[in-house]
Amino acid sequence: MGQEDAKNKHIVIIGAGTTGIMVANKLVKSGHHVTVIDPAKTHYYQPGFLFVPFGQYQLNQLRKPLVRLLRKRVNHLRAVVQSLQPAEKTLQLDSGECVRYDVLVIATGTQTDPTMTEGLVGEGWRKDIHDYYTPDGAEALRQALQKFQGGNLVVQIMEMPIKCPVAPLEFTFLADDYFKRRKMREKVKLTYVTPLPGAFTKPVAAAKLSHMLSDRSVEVVTDFLTEKVDQAAKKVVCYDGREVPYDLLVCVPMNVGAKFLQGNELVNDVEFVEVNHHSLQSTKYPHIFAIGDAADVPTSKAGSVGHFEAHTLRRNIDHFLAGRPVEETFDGHSNCFVECGGGKALLLDFNYDTQPYEGTFPFAGIGPMKLLNPSRLNHWGKLAFRWIYWHMLLPGRRIPFIPEQMSLKGKNIPADTRVSESYETRDMSQDVPAQSQVKPPEENEPSQVEQPQVSSVPNEQPNQLNQPKEGGRE
Ligand SMILES: Cc1cc2nc3c(=O)[nH]c(=O)nc-3n(C[C@H](O)[C@H](O)[C@H](O)COP(=O)(O)OP(=O)(O)OC[C@H]3O[C@@H](n4cnc5c(N)ncnc54)[C@H](O)[C@@H]3O)c2cc1C
Repeated sequence: MGQEDAKNKHIVIIGAGTTGIMVANKLVKSGHHVTVIDPAKTHYYQPGFLFVPFGQYQLNQLRKPLVRLLRKRVNHLRAVVQSLQPAEKTLQLDSGECVRYDVLVIATGTQTDPTMTEGLVGEGWRKDIHDYYTPDGAEALRQALQKFQGGNLVVQIMEMPIKCPVAPLEFTFLADDYFKRRKMREKVKLTYVTPLPGAFTKPVAAAKLSHMLSDRSVEVVTDFLTEKVDQAAKKVVCYDGREVPYDLLVCVPMNVGAKFLQGNELVNDVEFVEVNHHSLQSTKYPHIFAIGDAADVPTSKAGSVGHFEAHTLRRNIDHFLAGRPVEETFDGHSNCFVECGGGKALLLDFNYDTQPYEGTFPFAGIGPMKLLNPSRLNHWGKLAFRWIYWHMLLPGRRIPFIPEQMSLKGKNIPADTRVSESYETRDMSQDVPAQSQVKPPEENEPSQVEQPQVSSVPNEQPNQLNQPKEGGRE
């Protein structure tokens, strides 16, 4: 196909979130005919939600009208996609309109669905049970924290995968800092509850982060596969019978892909699009690609990942339209600041094969950022990222000195541990007993039910993890 023919092809992107905006802007810059479909009028900088409950940001500092973020030549259809027919290269909108495409990019992200956990939504929702992954949730939690006079504050991940797997840790560190500043830390028992065997998805960082939690007197409860929330008794219940009491529950509800993809041949059992992990091309249809949280790639669901993926995706759309083989250049690169409280943050930089290690970033020996160690400069880096997001990431510009593929330069890697073990990719469905097989605790077995085996020592034996399973819930 000639270059002009390729430019006449219609590229449709479903979703104008972080990655949809980025990719649309990149593609029109290189002359493509692009339509992006999303019902939203406003775009939120989601990483800022973390700071809203602590009064450090207000929602109006985190949003911009979508129309100002998309380049003029991007055609924006304000609509919800309701179904997709990959073989016919068509999709249907909520208005009933049918849209045809030559290339489709699925950038529908992930949404939290609190209704998927028994007992989570009910009387107590947004009263003593909160989330902060949505604008309304973050604002309601700000008010709840202000009123909180002490007791059990439980931070809980309901199930993996979630977007930004460090965000619940950051919330816990900031909560510790917040109550210290309010001079009431001793009145608050902080507990961190996770389905993972450690504080994070990657073992070396997990060990470091769990020490940071114990230094702050945070109790860590690992391998907690939530069966239900018992709002009457104010406790969360694990399938194995453990229970954790709460006065204020701050949770990350289950994350799921777009509902319209349910049952579609393109997706796995939780509606994430099955793609080649290095090219982002659908494993079923070569004219379909997925990016960002919507793709089933085994790395963190994070805006930084979407930014690195966007380079590979843009080139691969060009290759596909020109009839060339696609590149397998995406290496799972993720780069994220972890806010630690006290005006410090640490930085994680890793990919599919290399887990986060200590060192300096982006320059070996010079830094100025520190990897896996808290510093003030990292904290300023985290705050500066909001500016970078609006002015570089979304417009589809490269960020100077930040390589598309992860670099080993500056990383202190022990010689025998180049290949990463990841908790993120472990198949947790093997750990969850089918509901019917769960033995209800007997009345005369109180030790199982009333005395939670709350562990403050995370499992640090990653070699015992199951092998990664592609496609399923982690
Ligand atoms: C509290 C919090 C803190 C975070 N911190 C960080 C951080 O520090 N660093 C980092 O890198 N990342 C962070 N993230 C994650 C980051 O925000 C996401 O990974 C990123 O926004 C994913 O981009 P996306 O384009 O895949 O999805 P989104 O930005 O979520 O966009 C998806 C879009 O798809 C649209 N859509 C869905 N279904 C349909 C449909 N049927 N029809 C049309 N449109 C549809 C939605 O309206 C939405 O606009 C954080 C997230 C949260 C919640």
